[in-house]
Amino acid sequence: VITKSITNQSSYKLQHVISVADKSDKVVAHQGAIFEKSPGVNCLAVTVQDITQRVQNEELIRYKTFYDSITELPNKIYFKEHLPSTIRESQSDETLLAILFVGLDRFKKINDSFDHLAGDQVLRMVAERIGKMECSRCFVCRYEGDVFALQLSDMQTVHEVEAFARKILKSIAEPLVINDTEIFLTASIGISIYPMAGDNVEELIRSADAARREASKNGGNQYMLHQDGDEKAAYKHIVMERDIRHAISAQEFEVHYQPQVDAKTKKVVGAEALIRWIHPENGFISPDEFIPLAEEVGLINQIGMFVIESVCEKLGEWKDKGLGDLRVGINLSAPQFKQKDLVSFVRAMITVMELSPSQLELEITERIAVSDFEQSVEMLTQLKKIGVKTSMDDFGTGYSSLSYIQDLPIDTLKIDRAFVKDINDAGEHGEIARAVINMANSLGMHTIAEGIETDAQYQFFKFNGADEIQGWYFSKALPANEFEAYVIKQNGLELTPNSQQNDVMAAIPQGVQTAQHH
Ligand code: C2E
Ligand code: CA
Ligand code: CA
Repeated sequence: VITKSITNQSSYKLQHVISVADKSDKVVAHQGAIFEKSPGVNCLAVTVQDITQRVQNEELIRYKTFYDSITELPNKIYFKEHLPSTIRESQSDETLLAILFVGLDRFKKINDSFDHLAGDQVLRMVAERIGKMECSRCFVCRYEGDVFALQLSDMQTVHEVEAFARKILKSIAEPLVINDTEIFLTASIGISIYPMAGDNVEELIRSADAARREASKNGGNQYMLHQDGDEKAAYKHIVMERDIRHAISAQEFEVHYQPQVDAKTKKVVGAEALIRWIHPENGFISPDEFIPLAEEVGLINQIGMFVIESVCEKLGEWKDKGLGDLRVGINLSAPQFKQKDLVSFVRAMITVMELSPSQLELEITERIAVSDFEQSVEMLTQLKKIGVKTSMDDFGTGYSSLSYIQDLPIDTLKIDRAFVKDINDAGEHGEIARAVINMANSLGMHTIAEGIETDAQYQFFKFNGADEIQGWYFSKALPANEFEAYVIKQNGLELTPNSQQNDVMAAIPQGVQTAQHH
């Protein structure tokens, strides 16, 4: 190190041990720096320090931080620090990793009927028994109180893990002698297995501990495997529900617009509004993930109104900017479609933003439409009365029943990607899509083909008479301002600077802006 330092004209630091015969080894820290004393004469300045005490202190602190003083086993902190590397190992070895949480049943009773020292003694004896268990790769710690935790790596099967748990139960059940009294202990073991129960430290620990509590509730003296994903899902659910509530107030939702172009002219005629949730920690969360949950917990109406409001605001803005009377499709969830105020809310928004009602197209799926047919007809009729358009979304993924469609006052049929994705570059495998277009035409319905990704698919739908095209072939869903730019470019618009400056929000009375949320 020193030679290198001289050659490179750099400073150095090093630490080494000086062995002393009476075993009172010293730890020494060296530090050196080169400097040019006079032209051509370099000097090395060195300090040497005995840091034995400091190192010992550090070791002591480390020990106190990472070990339990009663059992001398690693503690919870160490356990958690160690787990990620164990997970990585199992991942690369493709073996199972089991987390076992071993809790002593009725340990409190021992503590109460003897004393704390006896309790400590029991913990030490149990630690010894578990520590002695035969296993190739096993990390044992005292997790907290009367709970020990193990990381069992290199497991090939769940049976192997279970056999190990039974061995622990058996070894703990051997009588113990404390203060000349024989006592009998049992344990409750909870097991979570990577990768089945989760892939991160928190999840695996939580699952194992929950299973342990379950085993204890069932009477103890048994092991329990973490039940597949249930709990994980439930937990995720709770967190997500909380996050959705927060997201609404923190305005983490954004509406993006996926262009819908005229099949013949390639001009943008409208867009589908697709909601985006940018979670501050988890990033983008797909609507497919949070919409169903929002429906379940009764938050969808709030989210839905936010979407309708945002869309109407933008449509007004675009109109003022000279982008034309664009039409935007809005997805409706079942609870929204059943909401009595929907019609009046939509009508109010249209009036406030001075839109023409046909600029809105509300999308419902077949499933929603047929779930309560009478009511659907009623709602669609009311919407038709106020002049907004309606479309049948995902046509072809549900009932696809002609007779239903015929009896519903629906304007547009959105042909699902299911019929589109098989159409290859030779334009083959489009028979069903062709039949759907023909059927829609014969019913006098407008058609939008969804999920068009290739030129061949585009050509197919254009040739077979679909009215509009939506899909990545043209564009993904874009933030409002990018969509604007897309329309300007695609439609060859030349906007006057004046028309671009119009601020639509300034024109809306304050009271209306806030009243929309009710
Ligand atoms: P959807 O109504 O069927 O929307 C179309 C989905 O297909 C969108 O997914 C869109 O990004 C995707 N897509 C569009 N073009 C292509 C393509 O060329 N290829 C492929 N592979 N996919 C394409 P996204 O945005 O993830 O939305 C998923 C679903 O979430 C929507 O399905 C809709 O059911 C629901 N959703 C989205 N926004 C809202 C909303 O504001 N309210 C309600 N209630 N539901 C919404
Ligand atoms: Ca849709
Ligand atoms: Ca769709």
